[in-house]
Order: sequence, then structure tokens, then C-alpha cells
Amino acid sequence: MDFSFFKKSWFGSDKDAPAVTPPNQATTETSFVKVPKLPTSSPKKNNIPKGMWVKCPKCSRLVYDKDLDENLKVCPGCAHHFPLDAWSRIFSLVDENSFQELNGQLTSKDPLGFKAVDSYKNKLQKNQKKTGMLDAVVTGVGKINKHKVALGVMDFRFLGGSMGSVVGEKLTRIIEHATSKKIPVIIFSSSGGARMYEGMLSLMQMAKTCGALAYHSQKNLPYISVLTNPTMAGVMASYAGVGDLILAEPEATIGFAGRRVIKDTTQAELPDGFQTSEFLLDRGLIDSIIPRKEMKDRLSYFLEFLGSKAK
Ligand SMILES: [Zn+2]
Repeated sequence: MDFSFFKKSWFGSDKDAPAVTPPNQATTETSFVKVPKLPTSSPKKNNIPKGMWVKCPKCSRLVYDKDLDENLKVCPGCAHHFPLDAWSRIFSLVDENSFQELNGQLTSKDPLGFKAVDSYKNKLQKNQKKTGMLDAVVTGVGKINKHKVALGVMDFRFLGGSMGSVVGEKLTRIIEHATSKKIPVIIFSSSGGARMYEGMLSLMQMAKTCGALAYHSQKNLPYISVLTNPTMAGVMASYAGVGDLILAEPEATIGFAGRRVIKDTTQAELPDGFQTSEFLLDRGLIDSIIPRKEMKDRLSYFLEFLGSKAK
């Protein structure tokens, strides 16, 4: 269509708008007067090391990073639970020098050759460098107050703790190891769900891990699932949701589909605290909410109750 009959005056301007162009690079380079560059901030400010103080998202208190580490990443002001990496969690739980990692060498092969904005291969490499882990779970055997257990601990930092074939395989192997050694299994979940970069192969891990847990259960061996913030989707719908005991950390987000998806689908107002540990404890899905600092002692109490003998 021809729009030439439109006049600029109709839009309140008779003149052409002045052209806004960046200053010519050549003229600034040939200028004789050099303008000194001023520092953007005072040097004193730069002396403060980055990341020494952390602001609590719940009570806004500034917490010294080292204090937070010593407090197992729990805010000393309001007991808000910050994310905890897999190895720190393991060291907070097991008896000294008792943990032995198993199948730590497994890595994903990128079976689909997945590419989007970035390739899955690149994403894996970046996350491995960032976390020092090969995938999103650490598995092994250790002792909790002298109770021998098989332990699987997920790490949300690695691709959102997503469950790909390596997470599924490592968990299945540790569950099968526990079945053959006749010891309990404890899995700490922290995950956004299945890993989409591995398509159906990641969904298959739901059935595989639950199958291994069924064999473990047939031998009358206990499985304790601990849900931490967040435990969602394919992980909650498989091994995280089938524990003989299901425990959770305070105020963790736990569910299958996200809150917004449910609201849009059902067109209903969702109640306060929906998809939190406290909400699910009230409705019977979770057996107990345990603060991080009490976790080790409570776990050994439950292990004793479920018939595991301290050795
Ligand atoms: Zn706080």
C-alpha cells in the first residue's frame, strides 16, 4: 500500500526529526585534547571483597558469608534456609571420614545432540566448571550416627538439579547397592524436574528409579525421602514422592506443575502457602518438617525406629 499521502503535520510536527547519530569515531580519535578518564567509584569501595555479605531474602538482614556457612546456610535472624550444595550437605550429615562416593565418574553423553540458544554440551561443560561436579547428584555410602546408609544428594546449582540419565542411573545404582548390602536409602531432592535436553531418556529415569526402590522395599528395607527447596515435577512424581517416610525442610516449594500453570489451567484462586512444605504437612503428604540443623539427629532417630541397627 502507498502511505505517501500521510503528512507529518498530522502528527504535530512540520519538520523532520533531527537525526540522532553516535559521535563519529574518527573525529574523537583525532582530537588533540585528551580528556582524563575519571574513576567511576572510589578506590576505598573497591577494597571490599565481593560476596562477603549476603542479604537474607526473608528478613533483609545482612549476614556475614562465613557465619552463614558455619550455620549450614540458615539465616541466624529468621531461620530462612538458603540453598545448600550437595557436598556441604553430605558433610553436615555423615560421621567423620565415613562417606565413600560411588559412581562419581558418570557423565552425560548428549544423546540427542540438543541445541537451542546454547548447546547441551556447552551447558554441561559450564555447569561442571561452575560446580566442580560432573552431574546434579552425589551418591555414596556413609554413616549417620553409626547407622550405615546409602545416600543420594542432589545439587540445584547444576542445571537446576534436573534429572537426566546420569542422575537416574546414579540413584538407581546406589539404591541397588543398598538392596544388595541390606541398608537403608536416604535421598535429598532439590530439582526443577526432568532434564529436557535429554527428552524421553530423562522421563524414563522416573520408572527406573522407582523400580529399583520397589525391589529395595521388597527386602523390607527403609527409604527416607527428604524434600528441599525446590522439589518439583518429574522428581516429585517419582523417587522423591515414594519414601516410607517423606521429610522436608521448612518453607520448601514442593509440587508437580508450577503455581502459575495450575492457576491458568484451573482458573481458581490458590490458597495461601500453596505448594509449601507446611501446606503439604497439613494435608498429609509430608510426615515431618525438620530444620537443617536437626536433620542428622532426627534421621538417625528415624533409622533406629525403622529397624536399622547402629554399628
Ligand atoms: Zn533472615
